Amino acid sequence: MMLDSMSISTSSFPDLADPAGDAAASAPVVLDGVRKRYGRGRGRVTALDGVSLALAAGSFTAVLGASGSGKSTLLQCAAGLERPSAGTVRLCGSELSSLSDRRQTVLRRERVGFVFQDLNLIPELTVAENIALPLRLGRRRVERAAIAEAAARVGLDAGQLRRLPSELSGGQQQRAAIARALVVRPEVIFADEPTGALDPYTAQSVLRLLRGTAEGATVVIVTHDPQVVRFCDQAVFLYAGRIEAVVAAPEPADVADRLHALGALANSGGGA
Ligand code: ADP
Ligand code: MG
Repeated sequence: MMLDSMSISTSSFPDLADPAGDAAASAPVVLDGVRKRYGRGRGRVTALDGVSLALAAGSFTAVLGASGSGKSTLLQCAAGLERPSAGTVRLCGSELSSLSDRRQTVLRRERVGFVFQDLNLIPELTVAENIALPLRLGRRRVERAAIAEAAARVGLDAGQLRRLPSELSGGQQQRAAIARALVVRPEVIFADEPTGALDPYTAQSVLRLLRGTAEGATVVIVTHDPQVVRFCDQAVFLYAGRIEAVVAAPEPADVADRLHALGALANSGGGA
């Protein structure tokens, strides 16, 4: 009986086994009972309210939910950029709370890639210099060939590499931000609404690119866009800081319906 129910749950959610179980042991991203509260007293907000999740190596996961449901907080806690108020996070095999701040920084720099909506490209640096930044910060050798290769993977040419970010289109800047995330060949890539500022056509091509270039990395992407799930193995829906549903092989139409329902729930006062 026990075995039956376990095999059902793991076959319907192949990448979301019980965080304490065997399948989770090798998962590069594991959250167990993660809570995050901000503020104190009457201003206190519970952004995450007990999230447990294990993402298998090489999986591509979308995190969806209404504004304020905790998507960014989930990503920040998973990446060690925010410290949970309770619960544990394991990233690339290390429990983050057991690492010093310095070792967490090194782990992020060497094994994790980030793409954020506002890109954080440094305006005074050329595109090539921006892409090289994670290597420089890690005091690693910056090989021209490695930069050119990361750029080529996202379709940026040598001429574009010599320009400043402001001289590129939005989609090209997005590609540069992805190249910068890929340059360290990360095991895990976190992306928070990476296509939020792009038109739907460019957004799709950027996502296709991310899917194609991740090369076995585990990718977690926060999005509002139901179309994005075409590129994902699973969709995690958040509502008021909790996981409301996990859907394997999500379909855009179903995702749009679910988001609509969650949005309506949040607006009816059920949410924060
Ligand atoms: P989402 O990304 O889904 O829009 P967030 O994770 O950004 O949601 O936020 C979840 C909740 O936590 C919201 O109520 C938000 O206002 C609150 N929150 C997020 N970050 C902070 C912060 N640094 N300080 C205080 N409250 C925060
Ligand atoms: Mg957010």
